[in-house]
Amino acid sequence: MSKIADNLKKVRDSIASVCAHCNRNVSEITLVVVTKSANLDAIKQVVRLGCTDLGENRVQHLKLTADDIEAFIKQNPDDTALPQKINWHMIGHLQRNKVRQLLKCSDTIHSIDTLRLAEEISKDAEKLDLCPKILMQVNASEEPQKYGVPVGAAVHLAEQIATMPNIKLIGLMTMGPLTLNKDIVKACFIRVRELFEEIQGEKIAGPDFNHISMGMSQDYEVAIECGATILRIGSAIFA
Ligand SMILES: *Cc1c(COP(=O)(O)O)cnc(C)c1O
Repeated sequence: MSKIADNLKKVRDSIASVCAHCNRNVSEITLVVVTKSANLDAIKQVVRLGCTDLGENRVQHLKLTADDIEAFIKQNPDDTALPQKINWHMIGHLQRNKVRQLLKCSDTIHSIDTLRLAEEISKDAEKLDLCPKILMQVNASEEPQKYGVPVGAAVHLAEQIATMPNIKLIGLMTMGPLTLNKDIVKACFIRVRELFEEIQGEKIAGPDFNHISMGMSQDYEVAIECGATILRIGSAIFA
């Protein structure tokens, strides 16, 4: 088995075992493979291994990689291991002037943290006749250098975004704090889970609001225990 296949198997096995341990169904979890530091051959490998959800944190790189992978799939119509289509997730900080370009190649955006950005997405999506899925990024670790709406402002922003016509608000996203202390990470993830339940419980965002995107290579096991439905994992697979 190649290194990447082996790493991917380890990640998938560990997701399954944590799910079993906390009575969750593996089918509730989407693994987004973060390709930002991988080369094209490595990305082709994970696609052949059944990964259909890929994530990038820069618009330009997402577009280039999405084009390359689409061409690869088209050039190999007889390869039954290849999926028909890849879902590209934008997971990094997004500038308003890149929105229109992004909407043409990604339909799930994890990093909405201001009203102006949400308005830009809705406006551009309307022109392109699209309705992208978006997640609101929350800064639950309260590290000042991080992007994301502060926890205290999150419900209000969700209310505003939920009224926009060409956006489907599907959940919350967060980045765990930069520490190996599991208790601190867990406290942060639980805060996001509680916020998620509050927004869902008060029916602020409608029936599609079902996702919590949290958990990266260092902390995805804790994230699953705390209710994550989307994991964003890069280095555990490609390093
Ligand atoms: C890079 C990145 C990841 C993946 O991180 P790894 O530690 O490589 O698993 C997840 N989310 C975001 C927003 C990232 O930028």
